[in-house]
Amino acid sequence: MDLPPFANEPIFPGVDDPKMREAFPRAIAQVRKQLGRTYPLYIDGRDVTTPNTLDSVNPADPDEIVGKVCQAGVKEAEAALDAAERALETWRDVDPSQRAMYLVKAAELTRRRMFEYAAWQVLEEGKQWAQAYNDVAEGIDFLEYYAREMVRLGAAQDMGSYAGESNFCFYQPKGVAVVIAPWNFPFAIGCGMCAAAIVAGNPVVFKPSSQSSVVGHHLVEIFREVGLPAGVFNYVPGPGSQIGDLLVDSPKVAVIAFTGSMSVGLRIVERAGRTPENQPSVKHVICEMGGKNAIVIDEEFDEEAAIRDVLYSAFGYQGQKCSACSRLIVVDKVYDRFVPKLVEAAKKLKIGPAEDPSNYMGPVIDAKAQRTILQYVELAGKEGTVLYRSAVPDKGYYVPMTLVEGITPQKRLGQEEVFGPVLSIMRAKDFDEALAWANSTRFALTGAVFSRNEEHLRTAVRQFRVGNLYLNRASVGALVKVQPFGGFKMSGAGTKAGGPDYLLHFMDPRCVTQP
Ligand code: GLU
Repeated sequence: MDLPPFANEPIFPGVDDPKMREAFPRAIAQVRKQLGRTYPLYIDGRDVTTPNTLDSVNPADPDEIVGKVCQAGVKEAEAALDAAERALETWRDVDPSQRAMYLVKAAELTRRRMFEYAAWQVLEEGKQWAQAYNDVAEGIDFLEYYAREMVRLGAAQDMGSYAGESNFCFYQPKGVAVVIAPWNFPFAIGCGMCAAAIVAGNPVVFKPSSQSSVVGHHLVEIFREVGLPAGVFNYVPGPGSQIGDLLVDSPKVAVIAFTGSMSVGLRIVERAGRTPENQPSVKHVICEMGGKNAIVIDEEFDEEAAIRDVLYSAFGYQGQKCSACSRLIVVDKVYDRFVPKLVEAAKKLKIGPAEDPSNYMGPVIDAKAQRTILQYVELAGKEGTVLYRSAVPDKGYYVPMTLVEGITPQKRLGQEEVFGPVLSIMRAKDFDEALAWANSTRFALTGAVFSRNEEHLRTAVRQFRVGNLYLNRASVGALVKVQPFGGFKMSGAGTKAGGPDYLLHFMDPRCVTQP
């Protein structure tokens, strides 16, 4: 089967682009007419309704109910696992290229619904147009890329001969996969994890985050329409407290793909390590967790680019990205020149609902996130000097954009992930200290350096130990294939989504030898 070479979907062209100006408001108005619908579960190729539903709301206006999502309990979670287990019997032997074609078709369908799917994210997750558009584009990239990766890996590999015997290797799927997805990239990350598992031959039980289950349901639409066999994709939104552990603990499960917080990730790793007698295989966990990412500002750098990219990395989508810049480390020599300019630029940014493209920052995801972030905003006043704390709209889950200086690696704001728009600013005596501080947390996800000093940039490549390092640009927005995404230490177990090793985590290699 010949697929054209992979090419990234074009990213958002800018809020002034005439097509965006026309298409976004129209799509948002269309979506608004559909708010409040009830979303069933999807198990074994059928819709399943449950009496208890959860309201998913617009974080900019919590009175606006985006959808009512049926909640899976123990019975439904077990039914989904059973369906996936049955589907494995046939799905694992479907030719890899054929499996890949389902993903290519899914990408095509998604492309046609680009604006519609992005508009749902504006309303359910408070994503700005650009953030929502790029999320859907990333989902399409995952589908297209993993399809091609599976075609590449699906061919048996000739291992050569020895002593008159010939040898070849090939991959088989691990088995039933549980996918536990976050709300911050509500389409892309869930889509990527599910697509990888499915194309590699593993039927999926997908638990989207409660805050993004309506967007999570887009995967049901897509996978149903492309005709995936029953049981290969199952959608079971539900309370983590009731079904999270059940899915992770089930002996039927062979692989778990998780993206979310460090605490939940570590819990999954620990529980997946237990092996009851009836469990047939060692579970494999793919976990992508948090970050406390730093941008280092060196002595010589492009000031305009640094201001633009620091603000975007720290406050884009309200800082709710594991890749977000949460620490700005500025060398002493330029500190007093740069920091006041950054603060002035931050003061110009507008805050309000994401559907209005003149707003730079919108609401955070829910009341719980708002409470947690507000505690860090308060802590900022205790641990450092607050340089700017913005005003916020009255209604909705808003928190102020906060820039605080006087933070050192010893302070909580120098170590803990906030997952919100609080930027800790640190004054380092020189570049070496800046790098040492950059590496001084438990995390190792993204980082950036702004410098014109080639020697310093080379040093950073070696010594700034993160999964994704960016030189003279923002620390967010990794693109599938060209920038495989993921970190290590407490940021994850070294897997790279959208990279050439990713599908291998869902498969076991086999070798055949014959005289
Ligand atoms: N891949 C995203 C980026 O590069 C971040 C993903 C996340 O926050 O989970 O910005």
